Amino acid sequence: MPARGGRWAGFWEQRARQLQRQVQAKEERIVELETENAILHLKLAEYQEMTGKSSHAATRFCLLCDEQEGLQRGTRSSLAQLCRVIQKVKQDRKELRSSSLDLLRDCQGQQQDCGSEIVTAVQGAQRHHEAVLAWQSKAGCLEQSLRETTERYQLEKQKRKQLHNRLVELKGNIRVHCRIRPALPFDKESEDPLSQNSSVSAEVAHAVDDETVLVRWDRPGHPWINKTYNFERVYGPAESQRVVFEEVCPLLTSLLDGYNVCIMAYGQTGSGKSYTMMGPHSRKEPVLPVESQGDLGIIPRAAEELFRLISENPSRSPKVAVSVVEVYNNDIFDLLAKDSCAVTSGVKREVLTTKAGKKEIPSLTYESVHSTEEFLTLVDGRLRLRAKHATLVHADSSRSHLIITVTLTTAPSWDSPANRQSDVSLLKEPDCPSPRQPATGRRHSAAHRTSSWSPGAAPEGPTGHMEQVHAKLQLVDLAGSECAGVSGVTGAALRETSFINRSLAALADVLGALSERRGHVPYRNSKLTHLLQDVLGGDAKLLVILCVSPCRKHAAETLQSLGFGTRARQVQRGPARAGRVAPRTPR
Ligand code: ADP
Ligand code: MG
Repeated sequence: MPARGGRWAGFWEQRARQLQRQVQAKEERIVELETENAILHLKLAEYQEMTGKSSHAATRFCLLCDEQEGLQRGTRSSLAQLCRVIQKVKQDRKELRSSSLDLLRDCQGQQQDCGSEIVTAVQGAQRHHEAVLAWQSKAGCLEQSLRETTERYQLEKQKRKQLHNRLVELKGNIRVHCRIRPALPFDKESEDPLSQNSSVSAEVAHAVDDETVLVRWDRPGHPWINKTYNFERVYGPAESQRVVFEEVCPLLTSLLDGYNVCIMAYGQTGSGKSYTMMGPHSRKEPVLPVESQGDLGIIPRAAEELFRLISENPSRSPKVAVSVVEVYNNDIFDLLAKDSCAVTSGVKREVLTTKAGKKEIPSLTYESVHSTEEFLTLVDGRLRLRAKHATLVHADSSRSHLIITVTLTTAPSWDSPANRQSDVSLLKEPDCPSPRQPATGRRHSAAHRTSSWSPGAAPEGPTGHMEQVHAKLQLVDLAGSECAGVSGVTGAALRETSFINRSLAALADVLGALSERRGHVPYRNSKLTHLLQDVLGGDAKLLVILCVSPCRKHAAETLQSLGFGTRARQVQRGPARAGRVAPRTPR
């Protein structure tokens, strides 16, 4: 039995070892498996993580898929819409194409029509162009002939004027110009309210052309007046002082050629006589150069022209002396003999007849002048002394006739006609002291370059030789005719008006007698006509400038002035300066 027990023990021992080995192997295996298990766990964790990520991605993917699906749905619906639109566009295109084709066909038809119309129009235009060319050449010919006719007309007009002027000269006629002044603010003020509101034109006198005045005057209850008057020159309201002087200017050349010249402004008060002769009343600078004062009148411009002509020909340079006279209340006053300190205001003079039959004012004061400035200073200073009075028609109405005489004297020439007349002896003694004021000795003062001789009486020159009168320029600014009722004057002014009207009536009577060539001419009816006798009935070149207002209110006076001018034109005074014809005619 022990042997059998030992065998069993070995067996069990072996068996235990075997089992131990198995256990060990199992344990090793367990370790291995545990390791593997851990690795697997790690992997599992990894896979779990990956799975988490994947599921997140899958979720996102699902979301994206959903979005995609939504988009696809939207796209599909848009696509369907697009398809519908495309279908519509296709339809439209088709319709458009067919309408375009229709249009094209229409256009082609119209184009063809237009084409044929254009061809017709071009042909017509060509025909017209040819006609226009033909008309143009005809118009050119007509224009040319019109130009030639106009030139011929101007030439003929000029010739007619020259011939007329020559005729005027040969017949000894008086030249008459008419100036229509513009309507001025004071015309409106003095217009009666009835005619202010009236529909009829406020102007009745019109310059139709440069030789014709038309008066259209419609008065309720009176015959309608529609009358034209012709004069050598008519100035419309817009014509300037320069234009008026241009027409007058040639008379100054005649003056230097030895002709006596008289320029006289006639018209109702306020019609522009003083404006035409001197310029506007309120001239501040009397001695400014004439060309710098656009509205200066005939007198300053004539002085300027006279001295210009004298300076052009120094060889014949005559001496110039000036006298200024006013005829006031039918008395003649020597304004140069006035005392400017106002103590004296006039020296009365008389008109006398020389043996030679000439009218002279003895002891009349003459002052020598050597330039325009001297002349203007002298005349301006003396004009301030002229009698003036405000009337309803004119605030600055001159109450006297003004006569400025410019005498040109040359060195002696003993066989000259003027010297043959120099045995002048006066039929009456001069110098009657004025009832207005006594004479002063001032006019004899050499310091004032004053002398008191009658130019026709051949005064002594600086050389002691007798000088001869070469020619005389008389510039006359008449007082205005006026109706006392209209001008509203009373008292002394009414007396002045009566003298003015009487002297102007006497002037008209003289012209009437001269125009009818009556044996007796009533020069002596007024001092004015007596003083102007040589000018009116003699050989002077006399220009009367009729000044008229265009207004209805003054129509009666305007007609009277135009009638006066017409009568003056009819005067024939015998040949101008017998035996001598002017080398240059004034117009
Ligand atoms: P008259 O001497 O005839 O009484 P004026 O010469 O004194 O009249 O003129 C009267 C007014 O009319 C003045 O104020 C003058 O300046 C103005 N006048 C006259 N003629 C013209 C004219 N052609 N253009 C502008 N004003 C004028
Ligand atoms: Mg006047």
